[in-house]
Amino acid sequence: MTVDRKVRVAVVGAGPAGVYAADILTKTEDLDVTVDILDRDPTPFGLIRYGVAPDHPRIKEIIKALKRVMANDDIRFFGNVNFGTDIKLEDLKGFYDAVVFATGARRDRDLQIPGVDLDGSYGAADFVYWYDGHPDAPREWDFQPHAKEVAVLGVGNVGLDVARILAKTADELLVTEIPDNVYEGLKKNATTDVHVFARRGPAQVKFTPMELRELSHSPTIDVVVHPEGYEFDHGSMEALAAAKSQKLVVKVLGDYLAKEPTGAPHRIHIHFCQNPVEILGEDGKVVGLRTEITELDGTGNVRGTGQFKDWPVQAVYRAIGYYSDNLPGLPFDSNTGVLPNDGGHVLDIDGSPIEGVYATGWIKRGPVGLIGHTKSDAAQTIKMLVEDLPNLPAPESSEREAFDRHLDSLGVEYTTWQGWEKLDAHEESLGASDAHPRERKKVVPRDEMVAIARS
Ligand code: NAP
Repeated sequence: MTVDRKVRVAVVGAGPAGVYAADILTKTEDLDVTVDILDRDPTPFGLIRYGVAPDHPRIKEIIKALKRVMANDDIRFFGNVNFGTDIKLEDLKGFYDAVVFATGARRDRDLQIPGVDLDGSYGAADFVYWYDGHPDAPREWDFQPHAKEVAVLGVGNVGLDVARILAKTADELLVTEIPDNVYEGLKKNATTDVHVFARRGPAQVKFTPMELRELSHSPTIDVVVHPEGYEFDHGSMEALAAAKSQKLVVKVLGDYLAKEPTGAPHRIHIHFCQNPVEILGEDGKVVGLRTEITELDGTGNVRGTGQFKDWPVQAVYRAIGYYSDNLPGLPFDSNTGVLPNDGGHVLDIDGSPIEGVYATGWIKRGPVGLIGHTKSDAAQTIKMLVEDLPNLPAPESSEREAFDRHLDSLGVEYTTWQGWEKLDAHEESLGASDAHPRERKKVVPRDEMVAIARS
């Protein structure tokens, strides 16, 4: 027994990081614990619902495992609760022995180049929110009828998602869970050529092999790898020798390089050693992208050559990585975009641990790694939390329902796990009864989601 009282833990963020943390906690031997998971979305699953692309049902399957975790009576879900406005850290401390932040990273990292604010320059995270039907995203995407050539900056999996969704037809995506507004929006997408720009070489891309390979699975897309900059230096060879998956990625890139285009109506071009330095505009709108041609410096990094190239594109999507939101009342490391922490224990600005406050997932270590990586992260954080428990003061109010009453008294229209199950069933029935039957069709407006969940 680590403590001889019933322990209550709040997890803020119901994405995989938060759910894994709750799972590990409730499975801790000799610990009598109940966990409440809060999220500002009315639904659980965070970036699996609102980050994974709709045409990636295999990754969305992870939801099945998370549902099994949430079926545990010792874990409850409170959706539509906004940390920082509805509820603050001081409030949570009154109800819980410890608080774990698993709020992830949802915004686009800033790209500080001229022209970034032009019409037609978009953050990938905003586009992902839109096509994944997030309630806070605008209902319409501003596809311009003249935007046939489009740039995607960054060669990570988000860049691939964005490029693929831009290059696929709306009808190809109609088998997925996309809501009506996204389908109607995608029909206005005039893109024929998506140019994906890597600032370094092929051995330095952040794609994963399967995601890169599946680009060619769409009959409407040709993948064209351009030979300029397709180079390997000593650092590249070392990186390839060290990582089998990177070698596989380069093998797939090489296959694309060697392949003749089939004449498909859309193309995804991949360009190497092109560092974006300016988004070019006219009358406030994007008319091009200027890149500086780079060369590998022997270590796998690049240096500029002083030579520039202009690309006539009419839209630019910046997929250079996510960034976490600052959490009100908590310290924030703006360089790395994380809660300052020591192995998951959140640290104050003076470096001292904040009693009973922990972090896990992307808010702990930054927006890198696949969903499965958050499991080991959660294990580390929860181990530390459990070790600290005997020294943590009990909360003022440890009765389980006291928190619900507090939210009620504040007038917060929270959703519960049972509410989510209603919305889940509703979305499935919408999908089944659609003119194009599919597994699910998402509900988008927040008030509608909340009304269904609370009905
Ligand atoms: P990421 O993997 O970190 O890739 C970011 C890319 O942006 C890198 O190629 C980086 O190049 C480039 N970049 C950064 N700053 C730049 C700048 N100033 N100018 C030009 N390029 C710049 O990030 P992500 O794509 O957002 O993905 C985040 C995580 O989610 C990753 O772990 C990813 O695998 C995961 N994810 C997985 C899937 C999936 O389907 N499995 C889907 C989406 C996301 P450098 O390397 O040169 O810095």
